[in-house]
Amino acid sequence: MNADRAITVTPILVADLHVEGEVMPVCVHVIDHPDGRVLVDTGMTKMHPAVVAAFDPHLYPLSESDFDVAGIDFVVNTHLHADHCGGNHLFAGRPIYVQRRELDDAHSEEDYTIREWVDAPGLQYVPVDGELELLPGIRLVPAPGHTPGSQIVVVETGGRPVVICGDTAVWFGELDEPRTEGQRQIRALDPEKVWLAHVHEPWRPGATRTESQGRDDARDGATAG
Ligand SMILES: [Zn+2]
Repeated sequence: MNADRAITVTPILVADLHVEGEVMPVCVHVIDHPDGRVLVDTGMTKMHPAVVAAFDPHLYPLSESDFDVAGIDFVVNTHLHADHCGGNHLFAGRPIYVQRRELDDAHSEEDYTIREWVDAPGLQYVPVDGELELLPGIRLVPAPGHTPGSQIVVVETGGRPVVICGDTAVWFGELDEPRTEGQRQIRALDPEKVWLAHVHEPWRPGATRTESQGRDDARDGATAG
């Protein structure tokens, strides 16, 4: 692939949550594509009593760093839990792609998210039904599991794909031994690497794990994560 046509993925740390004595990062991901910049998930930009009680967060909001908010052309929400959509309000007027099922659940289910963050003024959601090619080489793919309406972003980089998976896997063990439909779909793509929202480094198939990356115990309960 021609280097100046390459598509790149860059993680950005936007918060640290504190879950059961451990620090759980919240990362969003920027895809630089020749035809536009895509932001996958938006993290959190402010406190909310529900989030403080659950996660005691430390925030590094996109709006207060040197991140170029104005340079984003498209936003994708993997799902609409509070730690993934809290910065959506920064992107009023730009298209925000989310699975229709996820948007419906966020609007109808109690305690699903922080609804005023989902419905911040001026947001323009593009509800997606199934797969969508957002830009050449960037596909949105439904990946049920963490939530029924979750989606992943599959990026073609010339070799095996790179996946941005949101919370379809919250830690590496969930990709080492996939259990949900979404996790199995990721493995079936034979990805070069998978970016998770709550781990700094990408998962790679067959890589040796550190203990904290491979753990699969207490976080089973972290559905809001
Ligand atoms: Zn999360």
